[in-house]
Amino acid sequence: MHFELDDKYLEVRAQARAFADAIEDIAAEADEMSEVHPGVLGALRDSGLSGLMVPAEYGGRFERVDPLAICLAREAIMATSAHADSLFALQGIGSFAITLAGSEEQRRRWLPGVGTAEHLAALALTEPATGSDLKSLATTVTPHAQGLLLNGEKSFISNAGAAALYLALAREGDDFTLLLVPADLPGIEISPTPVIIAPHVLGEMKFSDVQLPTDARLGKPGRGFDLVLATLAVFRVSVAGAAVGLAQAALDEALRHTNTREQFGRPLARLGPVAQMLADCATEIEMARLLTYRAAWKAIDEPASNLHYSSMAKLAASEMAGRVVDRCVQVMGRFGLIRDSKIERLYRQARPMRIYEGASEVLRQSIARKLNESAPGKPLSDD
Ligand SMILES: Cc1cc2nc3c(=O)[nH]c(=O)nc-3n(C[C@H](O)[C@H](O)[C@H](O)COP(=O)(O)OP(=O)(O)OC[C@H]3O[C@@H](n4cnc5c(N)ncnc54)[C@H](O)[C@@H]3O)c2cc1C
Repeated sequence: MHFELDDKYLEVRAQARAFADAIEDIAAEADEMSEVHPGVLGALRDSGLSGLMVPAEYGGRFERVDPLAICLAREAIMATSAHADSLFALQGIGSFAITLAGSEEQRRRWLPGVGTAEHLAALALTEPATGSDLKSLATTVTPHAQGLLLNGEKSFISNAGAAALYLALAREGDDFTLLLVPADLPGIEISPTPVIIAPHVLGEMKFSDVQLPTDARLGKPGRGFDLVLATLAVFRVSVAGAAVGLAQAALDEALRHTNTREQFGRPLARLGPVAQMLADCATEIEMARLLTYRAAWKAIDEPASNLHYSSMAKLAASEMAGRVVDRCVQVMGRFGLIRDSKIERLYRQARPMRIYEGASEVLRQSIARKLNESAPGKPLSDD
């Protein structure tokens, strides 16, 4: 058993912390924006961190995209800025299917720019009427004389309007195909999504007879779902990394406050129930962190067969972040409620994490299915 991170991971973490430090002064402003903050994007480009999202052959950092490295980076970045975390994460989520199934030409065309964050990427699955039940989606792709025609609507798409490329899931006959859609094609309309409690770069998309070449299909026709699952198998656990970073930042805020404010003649942190809440926060963060690192480590070599394990980490860490940040607000009393304070920002930012990339209830369903399939008494993590 080996619980220490190798030098390569320590380097990534240090690099991500340096990026977070570099944007600290603009983080609060960026986190209230529904458009890309140019200062944060510039700092992301300078950091070189997007290189974690593509293989070395196409300008990336490591030979293969490494889920543990991405987790560690998101943990460090999310502690400072949800805006920066999302920009970083989308570079992988919105491009990984090209790494997996793009043609050599598509990889050479897009991946180097994704790795430097010159091109922003996006993954368009959700639709106005379709969320968790993705197989009910209505967007269609149909063959026509010059290639393919894409029609439909997508909703709540991160980076919509800012991205240079979209990976869009569409119905093709009875199956689903994932398409590489360059942002500058005619027939794509983008409008703003309503601003959410923790603002995020989001847009609504409409595809009207968008003409695509036949090689816009990533992988084999009708195999789009496999690519979406393969993407989740590598990136879902990174949401858990971000949730751990958010919870740690909340605890750090609460510790600062409760060690300096006195009531009843003592710092708040020395009052029994407050101390116990802080101890519970620290314990839960560490539990989630260990599960997250292990899930990410298992996803390095065998992402697909460990998707349930990544789901456990995402479920545990995002629910933990909700509990922790709530307790941290509580121990800070009225000071925890001040609009646009760091703790209030973290409180709002924790909430969407239990909904996107698999709502908690949907993840529980899939973990339960896996449990029921496995032999009685056999732990899901057994290896
Ligand atoms: C900040 C943010 C960024 C996003 N970015 C993207 C993006 O880049 N690309 C993209 O495609 N989408 C994106 N989404 C959309 C996101 O993926 C969906 O919100 C998510 O899939 C859930 O779908 P829904 O919101 O329609 O909820 P619904 O599917 O309507 O579900 C509502 C609730 O019902 C419950 N529920 C649903 N199904 C089940 C079930 N089978 N069993 C038990 N309970 C269930 C859950 O509690 C769930 O939260 C983003 C969303 C947010 C908030």
